[in-house]
Amino acid sequence: MPIGDYELHKEIGKGAFSVVFLVTEKKTKKQWAMKIIDKKSSSKGALETEIEIMKKVEHPNIVKMHEYFESTDKIYLVVELVTGGPLFDRIVDKKSFSEKEAKLVTKQLLESLKYLHSIGIVHRDLKPENLLLKTPTDLNIALSDFGLSKILSDEVFMKTTCGTPSYVAPEVLNNITNTPSAYSEAVDMWGVGVITYILLCGFPPFYSEDIRKLFESILSANYDFPAEYWGSISKEAKHFINCLLTVEPSKRYSAAQALEHPWIVDGNQSEPLPH
Ligand code: ADP
Ligand code: MG
Repeated sequence: MPIGDYELHKEIGKGAFSVVFLVTEKKTKKQWAMKIIDKKSSSKGALETEIEIMKKVEHPNIVKMHEYFESTDKIYLVVELVTGGPLFDRIVDKKSFSEKEAKLVTKQLLESLKYLHSIGIVHRDLKPENLLLKTPTDLNIALSDFGLSKILSDEVFMKTTCGTPSYVAPEVLNNITNTPSAYSEAVDMWGVGVITYILLCGFPPFYSEDIRKLFESILSANYDFPAEYWGSISKEAKHFINCLLTVEPSKRYSAAQALEHPWIVDGNQSEPLPH
């Protein structure tokens, strides 16, 4: 089935508010991923501005936006196709990552966030599902869905993020992020802490069937490193996570600070890059 200048092949993914298809651009024969979002979930206005900003983003660890168009009831985003699937699936397959692998992934995530934050973009919805792997064979990540939080209506966004509150920063639960703040990008850094934790042990730092308890533990950064799983993991790794899972946004490490943390810096020089 053709849509505009694209031939649709098959569904390659489904998100909370979108369906993703493998497509070929008729003119160039190039393959892309096309993300189709129901307009019902999108916010009024802001769309074009946001998309213009997203189109300017260029970083090796961020899914590149190619084109966008709309119909009466849908938004179509044509983006760089990545083939490694969600990082989340790789975590499930492997149970957990070695420190070296976790560090490699975390460092790329920090580089992409440092870049986004430097141009004033906050992702707001960082979680392993939104981290894709560029290829099935290595650990090069591609951050997807940045800026989407602004395209979606607040209602839909809150529903989807609060559907997976394990990743949400305390100040988001306290609902103070909508007030412009010098530290709004700190919500992403909390996400880095949660993701790094999961990479190293395979389960999240905050978890409870009881949503109230879950909120309470996030609001007080009440988490630990159970010895059974964390016994052989370095104290630098734990310290790194502590610096990110810090309740007060102004005290939480920024991407630039985190990139200078000994866990990220030490030993990286001697590690060969993956190929
Ligand atoms: P949502 O934001 O609606 O949750 P996602 O962007 O997370 O949707 O996409 C859902 C799924 O679609 C992803 O988990 C992934 O499997 C697939 N997908 C998304 N973007 C791409 C892409 N650029 N290349 C390949 N697959 C993708
Ligand atoms: Mg997503």
